[in-house]
Amino acid sequence: MDLFEYQGKQYFARFGIPVSPGGFADTVDDAIREAEKAGYPVVVKAQVRVGGRGKAGGIKLAADEAEVRTHAEAILGMDIRGHTVGRLWIEHASDIAKEYYASFTLDRSAKLHLAKVSARGGVDIEQVADEDPTAIARLHIDPVDGLSEEGARRLVDEAALDEEARAGAAEILMSLYRCFVEGDADLVEINPLILTPDGRVHALDAKVSLDASAAFRHAEWGDFTGLESLDERERLAQEKGLQYVGLEGDVGVIANGAGLAMSTCDVVNQVGGRPANFLDIGGGASAEVMADALEVINTDPNVRAIFINIFGGITKGEDVANGIVQALGRVELKSPIVIRLDGTNAEEGRSILKGHESDQLVSVTTMLEAAERAVAFTRAGA
Ligand code: GDP
Ligand code: MN
Repeated sequence: MDLFEYQGKQYFARFGIPVSPGGFADTVDDAIREAEKAGYPVVVKAQVRVGGRGKAGGIKLAADEAEVRTHAEAILGMDIRGHTVGRLWIEHASDIAKEYYASFTLDRSAKLHLAKVSARGGVDIEQVADEDPTAIARLHIDPVDGLSEEGARRLVDEAALDEEARAGAAEILMSLYRCFVEGDADLVEINPLILTPDGRVHALDAKVSLDASAAFRHAEWGDFTGLESLDERERLAQEKGLQYVGLEGDVGVIANGAGLAMSTCDVVNQVGGRPANFLDIGGGASAEVMADALEVINTDPNVRAIFINIFGGITKGEDVANGIVQALGRVELKSPIVIRLDGTNAEEGRSILKGHESDQLVSVTTMLEAAERAVAFTRAGA
């Protein structure tokens, strides 16, 4: 689970790693409010889970309100390597004397933790590794022993950080290692780790990837998953425990099994339509789950038709049919539904649906035909 920079910095702060004061903003007005709180000059930073934001124009310094407005307007909604910016992080700008690099990862082949420190930060570390591998100091750490203060000092010496930065950087390495281990991360990276002209060392960027298999002992990670997606549909789906991925089209898709859900999206594309989502209700889906799935799809304003594709295996046809009927009573569906029911007890399911069929609820027997009907619905209403 990758965190956004601002979440990573909040995580760092818990372990005593110095970061700049700031706040997040989803609108230009909020950006200005946060800039005033942080104090000018500020830096306006796109929050997307990809690196190289600076090069893409997603990181800008702003000296006053007018500049915050200009940059916030430009960066919100910007596409950075396929990620749309929905949130900004505004922090007090730092003066930079030097940019370094520090990270901890798990070296799976060595079965050890691996520290990397370099005096050449602020640039892509892979590029540094290609150009000059000796510019990166490495240290394997036995997880049983942990990182010693001596090890941390050795790293900053070997990386040849500036003399005045070494004590501060070694201290940050100790905290960062604690963040990595106690924080159950797969990766913690600071690039750049900076030295300020007045001799302080602190984290200017944060990359944190949490180990999802440790989630059971981190109730506080709920805050991160809640913020992980800014998409209202995905938030609701997550709350209901559904396997849902929001897409851009107008045909809402519900299927049982990930493979069938993918094929359903494919077949919608094949007949010239566009799926609004991927939604797998799983093998043992109950009437309750079907109703939840319809509720989530119903909140999507782009949806103009719903295509339910169920192959009865563990999920029996009559359960699916009952779920749909129950959902119809629970939510006022905004779009017509096309159902393709096959497999276990398909006949029983179809006969339950029969009593509810209308121009808004159609049952067909093949996947292709169902996709065609659903896509036709999206066009009829347009
Ligand atoms: P990335 O491009 O996604 O890795 O984003 P970073 O947070 O690492 O920022 C990219 C670059 O912007 C940094 O290497 C700095 O050179 C610059 N930058 C970021 N924050 C500040 C700041 O507070 N002051 C100054 N002067 N430059 C900054
Ligand atoms: Mn960076």
